[in-house]
Amino acid sequence: KISYYNGEFLDDDKISVNYNDRAVYFGDGVYEVVRIYDNEIFTFEEHLDRLVQSAKEIRIDIDKEEIREIMIQMKDKNKLPNAALYIQVSRGIEGRTHLFPEKGVQPVVLSFINKVDRPIDAMRDGVKAVTRDDYRWLKCHIKSLNLLSNTLLKQEAKDSGATEAILHRDGVVTEGTSTNVFAIRDGVLHTHEANNFVLNGITRQYVIKLAKSLDIPVKEKAFTVDFLKEADEVFITSTTQEITPVISVDDEKIGDGVSGEITRKLQKAFEAGI
Ligand code: PMP
Repeated sequence: KISYYNGEFLDDDKISVNYNDRAVYFGDGVYEVVRIYDNEIFTFEEHLDRLVQSAKEIRIDIDKEEIREIMIQMKDKNKLPNAALYIQVSRGIEGRTHLFPEKGVQPVVLSFINKVDRPIDAMRDGVKAVTRDDYRWLKCHIKSLNLLSNTLLKQEAKDSGATEAILHRDGVVTEGTSTNVFAIRDGVLHTHEANNFVLNGITRQYVIKLAKSLDIPVKEKAFTVDFLKEADEVFITSTTQEITPVISVDDEKIGDGVSGEITRKLQKAFEAGI
């Protein structure tokens, strides 16, 4: 397997990361994960734009065309037709100090790839979720390398026998630890508006488009945990999890406790588009 670090494509086991890379000390950088289906990078442009935007928000300048080229090369060199491709950009390599490096220090790109299959079982059978307090910072729209809260909360979900933790601020649902959250009530699709409390998922945006094309009304407005638990259908979305039904929240059944009709309709439309 070929990976990329700081200007070089190398066999995975030949990559060594510089310990002065600010990604190591501070998680000082941003990242993307894209899905490759049949050798094509899905929603490539949207991911590139979001990476540039995330970087800009933390004052890292990146060259979109350079990132595009690295990603295409990673895909072509590895020849994995169905894969998840990871790419991160850190602020650069300099001795540990909180202040930004001197001018001239270049951002550092790291990328690796893994073969992945579509999560067929989870998409058919659904998953369980638990709710947790969203104690993350207030810039969740940035796809930052800092994922400590997300990892702690995802592990708590697993320890409780669930797959995802659905987060809320004072009872208002924001998103999952690595997913956006949707609730369907009376035929209307609800999800948190795209603001600083959530990552504006590329899959989220894609699903909203699909819903509109299927004449399913969409309301991008925050809802409460109580509303979520009383929904007819709930699902989570992400690049690798696609549209995964949530069949229980805190062990309370959603609808009939199985994947719902509108969820299945959206899954079908998603599948047709990849
Ligand atoms: N929210 C969070 C916190 C995430 O980490 C992710 C996945 N990176 C998502 C939502 C879903 O985003 P996307 O659909 O772009 O994968």
